[in-house]
Amino acid sequence: MSTEFRSGIGFDSHRLEPGRKLILGGVEIPFELGLAGHSDADALLHALTDAVLGAAGVGDIGELFPPSDPQWKDAPSEQFLAQARELVEGYGFHVVNVDAVVVIERPKILPYRAKIRENIARILRLTVDRIGVKAKTSEGVGPVGRGESVEVHATAMISRDAARKPM
Ligand code: MG
Repeated sequence: MSTEFRSGIGFDSHRLEPGRKLILGGVEIPFELGLAGHSDADALLHALTDAVLGAAGVGDIGELFPPSDPQWKDAPSEQFLAQARELVEGYGFHVVNVDAVVVIERPKILPYRAKIRENIARILRLTVDRIGVKAKTSEGVGPVGRGESVEVHATAMISRDAARKPM
């Protein structure tokens, strides 16, 4: 029996604004600015959701959870990632691992990384060693460097029994 592996990438960017919470990976990080958006604007969970969906070739977050739909207003983004996992599991896949780079000038993410990894592991039902989260600054360059926005790049690997019929 052979195994089919697939990889996916995801990207997301949100503006930093006063009066919003900064939530990354489902973890609230104390800061004077937060991410603007229709849901809780968790760019890390959004990028991971797109990576998982992309690996299976089953659409993207904007298509499945349109911002025009009022039910997603201020919604915890955990449900997007959980639903993406459930969707790909419906096609016989399971998530092998995910990895992400959060590009943020301030605040430092490192003190929250363990909690973020544990939370993503819980949502994806994986062990923490299968969750990568790194943080980088933009060295003061561009909108991220000026502290105006946050960007996240993510990848996901999924696999299934190759004997299964194509979807
Ligand atoms: Mg987003």
